[in-house]
Amino acid sequence: MENDWQANCQRMVKEQIERRGLTHPALLDALRRVPRHLFVPESSRDYAYSDGPIPIGHGQTISQPYIVALMTSLLDLQGNETVLEVGTGSGYQAAVLSHLAKNVHSVERIPELAEQAARVLGALEIHNVHIHVSDGSIGWQAAAPYEGILVTAAAPHAPQPLLEQLAEGGRLVIPVGARAYQELQVWRRCGKIFEHEPLIGVAFVPLRGAEGWQEDQWE
Ligand code: SAM
Repeated sequence: MENDWQANCQRMVKEQIERRGLTHPALLDALRRVPRHLFVPESSRDYAYSDGPIPIGHGQTISQPYIVALMTSLLDLQGNETVLEVGTGSGYQAAVLSHLAKNVHSVERIPELAEQAARVLGALEIHNVHIHVSDGSIGWQAAAPYEGILVTAAAPHAPQPLLEQLAEGGRLVIPVGARAYQELQVWRRCGKIFEHEPLIGVAFVPLRGAEGWQEDQWE
């Protein structure tokens, strides 16, 4: 895998991303630069570039490459933004964002996942991702406002604290819904008004925490 990851990664980008209509050169370049196999457990490395999510322990997953690419593209980043990710998980999405934004703050509630993600990002010498162990359902006020916020777990609703941490014109990309059905939503801040549009149906693990699902609400 160490030797041929770039070939596998190129194929992933061509067949799973470009072929499905995401063709922005900077996005494709960012995806080609991140060795996805380093973000999955060693026992799953052979499947790292396959077309689906992969378990990463603690009941969590690294998202399907296409979903990572789609959510990233919806932020419409130009390179100078400060971005918030809620749900660090493996750190893969944060690594992709690191090549497209100036700074990435990523919040994870499970300390072991945050530590492992920080280790991999450190080994890759990615220095513009800042990982915080906290309840990301209320955002990360210390580095707000954000031009883009990306939530990688399904929320019962778009949390008001996240909307309020958006910069003017900023975008929030978030899956909203329950276990049975979720839709990906894009929210945009226009002054005091927040507009949103639904996109496609998706399947994420639950967002927990103050603005997330409670333990007995998901099963
Ligand atoms: N973006 C990740 C990646 O690239 O591997 C995948 C994230 S996984 C689908 C969802 C993550 O959200 C899990 O790691 C989970 O622990 C985390 N999560 C759920 N609720 C959270 C909360 N309130 N604050 C921070 N992280 C949360």
